[in-house]
Amino acid sequence: MAKNMDNSNHIYENIIIGGGPAGLTAGLYLGRSRVDALMLEKGFSGGQVNLTETIENYPGFPEGISGPELMQRFEQQAVKFGLKIMNTTVSEICRDAREDKKVFKVKTDDGDFYCRSIIIASGGEANKLKIPGEEELTGRGVSYCGTCDGAFFRDKEIVVVGGGDTALEEALFLTKFASKITIVHRRDELRGTKILQERVFNNPKIHFSWSSIVLSIIGENQVEAVRLKNIKTDEIVNFPCQGVFIFTGYRPIYPALGDMQDDLINVNGYIITDDNMQTKVEGIFACGDVRAKGLRQVVTACGEGATAAFFVEAFLK
Ligand code: NAP
Repeated sequence: MAKNMDNSNHIYENIIIGGGPAGLTAGLYLGRSRVDALMLEKGFSGGQVNLTETIENYPGFPEGISGPELMQRFEQQAVKFGLKIMNTTVSEICRDAREDKKVFKVKTDDGDFYCRSIIIASGGEANKLKIPGEEELTGRGVSYCGTCDGAFFRDKEIVVVGGGDTALEEALFLTKFASKITIVHRRDELRGTKILQERVFNNPKIHFSWSSIVLSIIGENQVEAVRLKNIKTDEIVNFPCQGVFIFTGYRPIYPALGDMQDDLINVNGYIITDDNMQTKVEGIFACGDVRAKGLRQVVTACGEGATAAFFVEAFLK
């Protein structure tokens, strides 16, 4: 992987921020179009997908494929067609004074880079509970995505943490697989919309543990139980289960956006684009989980990455 890129005065045609499936697909398409593009990725390529043990819903892999392996293949393919990748953290993007401010400056831990267009593909992450057992058992019963992992919990008893729309929608989705679902919520009323509340209350598979918080997740190699505390009575119990799905909010991740921030993000902090992945700031595109949208999956990230690359090329022309 390229470590020392020429960042002195060179103006790249495009810089991709983030090397998850959206960014890598954009990089593959830009590479094949011979666009002078540089990807800046803070860690390993693949982003959040690296946390997924098996992906069963990415077409073409009927037996499933491990998240890290799929992402390695994405990277190999993009690099094969000429994408340059550098590992560094991007702290800020802003307009550069040069060429009538038609050049962007990308500030990183390894100096400043310049480009004519940017694809923000820096993803997001589910809020963590930050409790013992959560990190160790992620991918071993702890999950942040029902669509991705639900099928592994067929006929199992699981816990869903959270009371917002995501928790309720995911709990309803998980009833397709799990034999029993207990929603653990820290208050005694749900936050989610009334229609979703009606559905969860009417679903015989869904039960509730009100005014409860999860103190820790217990298990040797797989989730075996959660330690619950009732915050009204202070009672603590070990509650047996094979899965814990945590939906206590999700947040997009991106560098400081300077004076472009108000044009780029919505009230929830996600980046707004049109159908071509173009933001309101000419030359800045976004794709993948960082975007305001309904479905966050590898397959949607790929489509958006390809779309962003296509319209970046059109923009450059
Ligand atoms: P959310 O609305 O912020 O709900 C987060 C839930 O997690 C809340 O019930 C909250 O409890 C709980 N929570 C937060 N931190 C916690 C902690 N440390 N420990 C235990 N519980 C914790 O997040 P969301 O459900 O992901 O939804 C995000 C936004 O997307 C919302 O505006 C939502 O309406 C929207 N959304 C819409 C749809 C749809 O329209 N179909 C679907 C999904 C999401 P409290 O209630 O006590 O704060």
